Amino acid sequence: MKKILLALIVPAVMTACSENKPELHWYKGNLHTHSYWSDGDGYPEMIMDWYKTNGYNFVGLSDHNILAEGDKWIVVQKSPLYEKAFNNYLDKYGDKWVTFKNDTGRTQVKLKTYTEYKYLFEDDNFLIIKSEEITDRFEDKPIHMNVTNVQSLIQPQGGSSVTEVMQRNVDAVLKQREETGVPMFPHLNHPNFFYAVSTQDMIDLRGERFFEVYNGHFMVNNYGDSLHPSTEKMWDMINIAYLKKGQPLLFGLATDDSHNYHQFGSSYSNAGRGWVMVHTDSLSPTSLIRAMEAGQFYSSTGVILNSLATDDNEIEIEIRKEEGVTYTIESVGVVGNEESTKILKTVNDADAEFEVTADHRFVRARITSSKIKSNPFKEGEFEMAWTQPITYTPEK
Ligand SMILES: [Zn+2]
Ligand SMILES: [Zn+2]
Repeated sequence: MKKILLALIVPAVMTACSENKPELHWYKGNLHTHSYWSDGDGYPEMIMDWYKTNGYNFVGLSDHNILAEGDKWIVVQKSPLYEKAFNNYLDKYGDKWVTFKNDTGRTQVKLKTYTEYKYLFEDDNFLIIKSEEITDRFEDKPIHMNVTNVQSLIQPQGGSSVTEVMQRNVDAVLKQREETGVPMFPHLNHPNFFYAVSTQDMIDLRGERFFEVYNGHFMVNNYGDSLHPSTEKMWDMINIAYLKKGQPLLFGLATDDSHNYHQFGSSYSNAGRGWVMVHTDSLSPTSLIRAMEAGQFYSSTGVILNSLATDDNEIEIEIRKEEGVTYTIESVGVVGNEESTKILKTVNDADAEFEVTADHRFVRARITSSKIKSNPFKEGEFEMAWTQPITYTPEK
């Protein structure tokens, strides 16, 4: 009886869904950004203006252990570079908006709060998400975790090991999420910054769904070295372990971690190096977070996709081609009981389809362009994109 009922009900539900299905869009965003509120060297309005002008739809301004609230004054550094940057800021927004004083012989500027600056920028195509970089450490190891859509400041929680520090900070975020009912998520930043966080440290974590597979700061060692795995290798090893533990797969983000807005090159952390493209129905923190937690996004350092579908045990990719540029699309996955990932298939084209079978523990795709990235994290880097890993879903 139950089966018959289901058979009758399901088509009706499916019709209703497809009729009411909201239209999905791709939204471009950077979830890791610094300003004068901590150790970045830009005014929030100037930074937001850069991102909005450069085609981003959302930004998380995530300063170290601080939210853009209350009074904060900065002193303009005595250098032509920073004096000019202040004059540019004053010219752009005017002395009715910019609060400053010169009574000590130095220019001091009062920073605008999140509540003040967000209304200058937000519209149907641009959103600023309240964020924080919880900046903690264990002994000499820096441990940084971003919180996207944080509602009130979370102090670094500390702990007696690298994993415990991370776990206590993850738990503090999840607690605030539960208490407020507001969706927010932690993500582990740059694990290879001072090689502070090992693969095993992350394997021992519970409740962490995201980490930075690519961070644009010049000190973060995305590609590892002779003694340490790359963040991409770590990602796969963590996911093999997470599946064994019955934990959801970890998703990989690309972010800027931008601090420097007036000097550029491989010894500065500049805006525009890494971002995510999220596929969802509307531009709101709730909608973006829901889509990201469902893996409906990819990470990029330059490659843009016209379409990406990860339904029906298939990954289908179509790249937005650039003149004179070639692309290598690889599927990366784990087969059977193997203990590491391998390249399952390579396609030298601008579109590809990869099948996910019951033999695969998980599969993801990686796209490498022949185009050298301008102002890269590391000289000689090619533009890339990473899709999120998926597992095989048995047919119903
Ligand atoms: Zn950091
Ligand atoms: Zn940072």
